Amino acid sequence: MANGDAHHIEVLNPATLSVVEQVPTQSAADLDATLRTASTAREEWLRVPQRSVYLEAVSELIAAETESIAQVLTAEQGKPLTQARLEVGVAARAFAYYAGQRLAPEVLHDDERRRVERHFHPLGVAGLITAWNFPVALLAWKAAPALLAGNAVIIKPAPTTPLSALRLQGLLDKVFPQGLVQTLVGGNDLGEAIVTHPGIGKISFTGSTQTGRAIMAGSAPYLKRLTLELGGNDPAVLLPDADLAAAVSGIAAVAFRNAGQVCIAPKRVYVPRDLHDEVVDRFVDHLRGQRVGDGADEQTTIGPVQNAAQATRLTRLRESVAADGGLLHAGASGPGDLPGYFVQPAVVTGLDESAELVREEQFGPLLPVLAYDDVDAVVRSANRTEFGLGASVWSRDLDAAVAVADRLDAGTRWVNQHGPAELDIPFGGVKQSGLGSELGREGLLAFTESRITNIKKQSDRTTP
Ligand code: NAD
Repeated sequence: MANGDAHHIEVLNPATLSVVEQVPTQSAADLDATLRTASTAREEWLRVPQRSVYLEAVSELIAAETESIAQVLTAEQGKPLTQARLEVGVAARAFAYYAGQRLAPEVLHDDERRRVERHFHPLGVAGLITAWNFPVALLAWKAAPALLAGNAVIIKPAPTTPLSALRLQGLLDKVFPQGLVQTLVGGNDLGEAIVTHPGIGKISFTGSTQTGRAIMAGSAPYLKRLTLELGGNDPAVLLPDADLAAAVSGIAAVAFRNAGQVCIAPKRVYVPRDLHDEVVDRFVDHLRGQRVGDGADEQTTIGPVQNAAQATRLTRLRESVAADGGLLHAGASGPGDLPGYFVQPAVVTGLDESAELVREEQFGPLLPVLAYDDVDAVVRSANRTEFGLGASVWSRDLDAAVAVADRLDAGTRWVNQHGPAELDIPFGGVKQSGLGSELGREGLLAFTESRITNIKKQSDRTTP
């Protein structure tokens, strides 16, 4: 949990541990008033003839404020500024992408006897609960389709990263009817209150699988509509003919991005035994080119992890490596004497499937590399997890790679790449990595419910 008192959150800079800002919090007691304002604003919103124009305007405002939002994002989240700027760009493009989507009724059947239409109705007020790893992009991925579909939204950012969300709220207020979008800052208890409030019909959540389960249980009495984007433990499988340089740079770019705090990062790498040492050397070479430090320093390529709990968890996982018979191979420079939540990035060898770092989602810059002898066994290993978010297969032979990818239990199977999530492609997990999808048209439909209008044009006595 974040620091502060009952009515404030103290947002810390994870690189320096200095206080960035004290933010007032809201509580469950504020929710009724929030919902009243949201419902009034939504009536106005539904009368707007072209909602997409508003989303376009938001996209432009965010793009124009890229630098200032990126600075806030880096200060509270820790990621290097270059990555923060890219994230803000993703948010701007998400609003532009959804501005281009339409929700016209579909005609399912039309002849001289009857016409059947499918209409897409908004769900009312949607609760958007986000994690701290991509506070700006996740918010936009949810808010843009929710608003285009005609909903009002209540946003609850993670308690350790509320500032960038509040910056976005300031921009959204310039465009949308007052109260249509409201950001409430608070801890997990506020999230719980949103989930269990009967006035909120939809919850779109990004965070851990454990919290996803609690949200499902909490919203069950109301049968709320849910989109859950949860944890992952993505395998990356190198086939014997993989282009090793491309595979290592492609995997490392995501595995160490945002200090490894990426839901779709490769989190275990499977390599043919005879290529293992060469692959590990290449990863270490990659790390030698990295500099760990304060994200605000333009030279930094890997920042701190975001919060104290995450740092503690990674320290424990780091210690588990030796206990499980593994070896850490580091290589990056920095962070000097900065006091923040730094975790030295490393590739890890010598572990097997039973090791904690292989079984659990590390969500940090520690990447296990495992040697394999047999592709069938590797497919079994890759699938031996409750998670199923992403997976990648690397090979010069696309048919061979696709054949292996088809056997992997994951919402997205990449070939010769691992990520990114793309605005126009539905993104979601299978197994316990999630429920439903966001992004793409599905991400828009997730904020609607389908209503059928079935019209009989002339009497037909044969039909009961
Ligand atoms: P978390 O589940 O602890 O918290 C996420 C959000 O949920 C926060 O805003 C938190 O305050 C709120 N929350 C916590 N308990 C709640 C409850 N009982 N009811 C309602 N809200 C509650 O997750 P985290 O540790 O902040 O994020 C890390 C996890 O998120 C990782 O597992 C990662 O893989 C996952 N993640 C998934 C995706 C995806 O798209 N699949 C993307 C990013 C992160």
